[in-house]
Formats: sequence, C-alpha cells, structure tokens
Amino acid sequence: MSSFNTLGLSAPLLAALKKQGYTAPTPIQAQAIPVILQRRDVLAAAQTGTGKTAGFTLPMLELLSQHKPANPKAVRALVLAPTRELVAQVHESVKTYGAGMNFHATPIFGGVGIHPQISALRRGAQIVVATPGRLLDHVSQRTIDLSKVEFLVLDEADRMLDMGFIHDIKKILALLPKKRQNLLFSATFAPEIKRLAGELLDSPEVIEVARQNSAAESVKQTFHPVDRERKRDLLAQLIRDQDLKQVLVFTRTKHGANKLSEFLTRGGLRADAIHGNKSQSARTKALADFKKGAVRVLVATDIAARGIDIDHLPHVVNYELPNVAEDYVHRIGRTGRAGREGEAISLVCIDEKDLARNIERLIKREIPKVVVEGYAPDPSIRPEPIPNGRNRSSRAPSRAPRHATGDRRTPREGARRSSRRPSSRY
Ligand code: AMP
Repeated sequence: MSSFNTLGLSAPLLAALKKQGYTAPTPIQAQAIPVILQRRDVLAAAQTGTGKTAGFTLPMLELLSQHKPANPKAVRALVLAPTRELVAQVHESVKTYGAGMNFHATPIFGGVGIHPQISALRRGAQIVVATPGRLLDHVSQRTIDLSKVEFLVLDEADRMLDMGFIHDIKKILALLPKKRQNLLFSATFAPEIKRLAGELLDSPEVIEVARQNSAAESVKQTFHPVDRERKRDLLAQLIRDQDLKQVLVFTRTKHGANKLSEFLTRGGLRADAIHGNKSQSARTKALADFKKGAVRVLVATDIAARGIDIDHLPHVVNYELPNVAEDYVHRIGRTGRAGREGEAISLVCIDEKDLARNIERLIKREIPKVVVEGYAPDPSIRPEPIPNGRNRSSRAPSRAPRHATGDRRTPREGARRSSRRPSSRY
C-alpha cells in the first residue's frame, strides 16, 4: 500500500492528513501529487469522490510554501469552480490541509454580499477559490489583482463549460501572468475540454484514474418499480422500514424538491430541500443540518447537489430518474465515495422506462428490479410524457450566468437535454 510519506509533502501537510485520518493516498492523489510537485501542468480526468480536491490542494500548498513572494498579500493561487458549493468545499479543504501553514484563503462566489469579500481580499489572500462570474465582478471593481498568480486550477471544468462559463474563463486567463502552472480537472475528456486544455496547458501530464462510470461499479443499485402517484409513500416507507439516515434524494425540479420535502416533513421525517432558488444561507443551513443529522432527508436537484461534500454519504435515492443517463452516474457518485460502500435506490414509474434502459446501457449492466410489497405497479396505468421540468425555462439567461447559482442552464444545454427526453412511445 502506498503512503503519503513518499509523495514529497512536508511535515505540516502530513500532520494535517494524519489528523483527517487518511492513511493512504487515493489513486488520483498518488499520481497527481508527485507530478504537480515537479511544477508540471496537469490534465486530470477525475470525478468527485476520487479525492481529487486533496490531489491538487496538497501539492499547491506545498509549492506555495517553498518560496516567499515579494508581496505577501498577493494572490498566488487561483482555483476556479462552477458552483458556490464547490467553491466552499475547496476552500474548506484548503483550510483543513493548510492548517499548519500561514496562508490566507478566501472563497469568492455570487449570491452573497460583495463587501465582505472585498474586505477579505484587502486583508490579503494568497489563495482565492472562486466562481468565474463573481471573480470578474471583482476584476471590474478593481478589488482583486490577478497579475501575480503562479498557480491556476480549473476544477470540474466540464461543468463550467456546460454552464456557459467559457467566456468568463477566457477573460480571466487573459489577466494572469503567462508564466504559471496550470491544472485542469474534469470528469470527462469531452472534445471541448481537450480544446481548452490545448489552449491552456503547457505539455501537460495526462492523468486518468477512474473510468467515467466507475462509481456505478462500487455502489449497490436497485430499481423499485412503482406507480408515479405512489412514489412519495414508498419513499417514506423505505426510509422508515430500512431506518435510512442521511438520505440524499434527487428530484427533477425545484418545485418537486420543495413539495417532497414538505410531504416528508408532514409525515414526521425531518427533511429539507436544497436548490438554486434558495438563498445561500438557507442552503448552507440545510447542508449543515443534514451533515450533523438534524435533517434526515435532503431533497436536491441535480445541479444543487453537485459539490455537496459529505463523508460516508450512505444512501442516494433517485425519486425521479434524470433525463440524461450521465446524470445518474453523477448522482450515485455521491455515495460510495473514496472506496466506501454505498447504496443507490431508484423509484421508477412507467413513464421512466426509456430512461431506465438508457442508464443500464450507459453503465453496461442490468440493475435489479425489486417490487416492494404493496407497491406493485398497476398494469392499467398508461405512461405519460415526462413534464419538461428541468431547471431551465424562458427565464434562462441568454448569456453566461454571472453568479453561479448552480441551477441555471444555458439555452444551449437546455436544448441538448430536451432532445433526449423519452420518446412518446411510453
Ligand atoms: P473529493 O473527490 O475531493 O470530493 O473527495 C472525496 C472525499 O474523499 C472527501 O470527503 C475527502 O474528505 C475524502 N478523501 C480524500 N482523500 C482521502 C484519502 N486519502 N483517504 C480517505 N478519504 C479521503
């Protein structure tokens, strides 16, 4: 078994890892850390749950500690991420791993007041973790100077492109010094990612640890066939009968998330919803309550759930299957993290037959269908088209969102997704 001791990290970082109880590096960490420490550019395919955050944070802190800059207040490292949740999570990691070092890191994201961020930047932050839109707000207000950045990380770059951030990213890149180290992390190597990598990275080391669908292999998955109108009762029963705790439930729409969380609460199960229409403070509170067990069931939309970082998340429930099979893999990747056991339950009604089949095709395996006693689907019920309830609408902005609410989609993506809605045969 490999150990952190041989990767080239110094004592304060090793102490922080020990405190976290990490005994061995994950594969992405074992591969990426030594390469990053050689000051190479890196293109890494790694999904959430692989330990990628520590994979770039640890060597970043190590390299920053190796020399002192002329201006101790200058921004030396910039991490860009698609959503405020992910920014908050990366910022937490920087604080955790850098606890024994003397760096200041600050998170920058939209949807909250800009003045505390300006104050933090004025006090001096060597490490800035930001969503692109709000970072550009600071640039235009001249409250941040990016001319001394030595180290750039694009985290979840594929999502940033999906969310329409490419122009914002390019504007930011133009403000950075030419000589710097660049890391690009993405769940996939889609052609747009390769193009961005070609423009951004200098002879990168390419690291690919987990195949795209590997989460699907380590998670126990079950499909429960059930009628659409009875899903909520079945969910409540499963939570009670199996005594499920810390259950993350996915719905397709924000409205659906609210309704379901209210239903569960009325039935005596402590539940809350998290999605892009909620204020940042409401989301943070819901997440904190969920983490400490005060909320048993957290109902979330796909995009809001990205960046939720919780150790040992034991159960993921697909209350509704996602319209795009890849989202299923993202969803169940929330459980079974870093090699731990996880379980993913999906409630599948007749309308979702095509979606279920697409998922099985994508992950190249059949998922067991288990009918729960008393919930056998009524064969006389006819399929209905799935309502077009993605988190997009005519209100979607025609340009990149300035504030990463995490739930807005560009029209381009909306078009891509709606084209994959199930056929009217079902
Ligand atoms: P990430 O993929 O960066 O979101 O990390 C997934 C989870 O794995 C996080 O909750 C980390 O705290 C945890 N983690 C990261 N590295 C290790 C490690 N070497 N050993 C055990 N857990 C880890």
